[in-house]
Amino acid sequence: MKAGNRRGMRIRWQIALGFGVFILVIAVLLWGMQIALLGPFYRAIKQTEVLRTADSIERRLEDDDLDEQVRTLSNDLGLVILVCDEFGIRYSAWKPTQRDCIIESMDRFSLRSLFSEVNLNGGSQLGVYASPFSYGDGGRSQVILYARVARTASGYNRMILIESEITPVDAVVDTLRVQLLCVTGIMVVLGSVLAFFIARRIARPVARVNESAKELAQGNYGIRFAGGGSREVGELAQTLNFAAQELSKTEGLRRELLANVSHDLRTPLTMIQGYAEVMRDLPGENTPENVQIIIDETQRLTDLVNDLLDLSKLEAGAVALNRTRFDLTESVRTILARYDKLADYSFPFVAGEDVYVYADELKISQVIYNLVNNAVTYCGADKTVTLRQTVQGGAVRISVSDTGEGIPADRLQDIWERYYKVDKEHKRAQVGTGLGLSIVRNILEMHGGAYGVESVLGQGSTFWFELPLATAGEMAYNESTSAIQRSFENDGKLHP
Ligand code: ADP
Repeated sequence: MKAGNRRGMRIRWQIALGFGVFILVIAVLLWGMQIALLGPFYRAIKQTEVLRTADSIERRLEDDDLDEQVRTLSNDLGLVILVCDEFGIRYSAWKPTQRDCIIESMDRFSLRSLFSEVNLNGGSQLGVYASPFSYGDGGRSQVILYARVARTASGYNRMILIESEITPVDAVVDTLRVQLLCVTGIMVVLGSVLAFFIARRIARPVARVNESAKELAQGNYGIRFAGGGSREVGELAQTLNFAAQELSKTEGLRRELLANVSHDLRTPLTMIQGYAEVMRDLPGENTPENVQIIIDETQRLTDLVNDLLDLSKLEAGAVALNRTRFDLTESVRTILARYDKLADYSFPFVAGEDVYVYADELKISQVIYNLVNNAVTYCGADKTVTLRQTVQGGAVRISVSDTGEGIPADRLQDIWERYYKVDKEHKRAQVGTGLGLSIVRNILEMHGGAYGVESVLGQGSTFWFELPLATAGEMAYNESTSAIQRSFENDGKLHP
């Protein structure tokens, strides 16, 4: 492993760290909310309750059943409530049973002076005081004392006085603290165990895949990746297994190609050299037939090199399509006419009306040549290669059939692979490089055309491809460009 790969934290530690931070945040939140903020929260809730009660009483000051309502509120909320006028005369005063309270101990005069004080202070006053009374377990509670001066609809001034006890939360906080300590402890233990197991489940398989990947990088294409743990790792292992398989296939093909190409190069070169030497040494051998052999062999070399170049360019995506609208039926006829010199063979072409396609004419011709050449090479004793043109659903299909030995069903997928030959032993001398169908496939895929093969062993094969028919738009475009081309070709200048 390179030093650079060691940078970054191991998954195991990342997961542990993640869990640690998570537990810490939860613990801080719980401790903060439950312990530090419990008192202030409780007090704020109490204050709101007192203010709301005051609002509600203020709205009912002139109701006949004010006293009854004050009693209900006092009982329901556990509040001491008093309503009096500016002279300290009580209209209503209620307290929950069994409660000592400050309000109760206030006489008329203290109420009157509180009234003026509140009035001076803007109409309301809220204070929190230590309760003079002892709380249940001996602790001292606090009280909120709220006074509000309100004017009734009939124009009288009334004072609403509310007292609410704030029971000390210390005892609750103590209980919570113990509980939280337990919860935090359980969280830490549980979190660590979980983090450990999850890390193991994730990190182990990843580490295993990593080890295998290093072997793959070193050229061990036979390596198998084991998944396990999570689905993602399983999928990763599957993908890597597929990649390893493909790499090993490519490696095999590369080796085979090297052997094939060297063999295919050597055979014609040996022939050329042999014939040339014979012709040099034996003047009588300097015949047109021998010269033709040298020319034929040179042609084979050229074809091989061209195929290799074509395919590597196609596969590298370095070839742009030069699409034009052309008569595909006519193209097939022209190509077949070139096979006239093969006098023993017949090439029937079954076609309806001429059809036009929008495609790269040169490349589509290359496809047809390749398919017809193969059919000639592998055709049966009747030496007949039948071409058919059918039109269906806006597409034209060209099929090339022979009555040769056919291709085994389990090879039908492979023949489109580069360098693949079904019968590696025979016919090598006269047959191509195994690149033809690969070139066909690349060209058709660039055009977005469908292609395929049907074959029955001993009865022959039918190779076919489909192209969409040229649409009206493509026709118009093509006609206008060819008009421009024509005018350009006429005098070398471009006329609008
Ligand atoms: P080659 O240059 O060897 O013909 P191709 O890529 O054109 O390469 O074809 C790949 C292989 O597919 C051939 O080697 C041959 O085994 C098989 N094949 C192609 N066309 C036919 C056919 N018409 N009949 C039988 N086999 C064929």
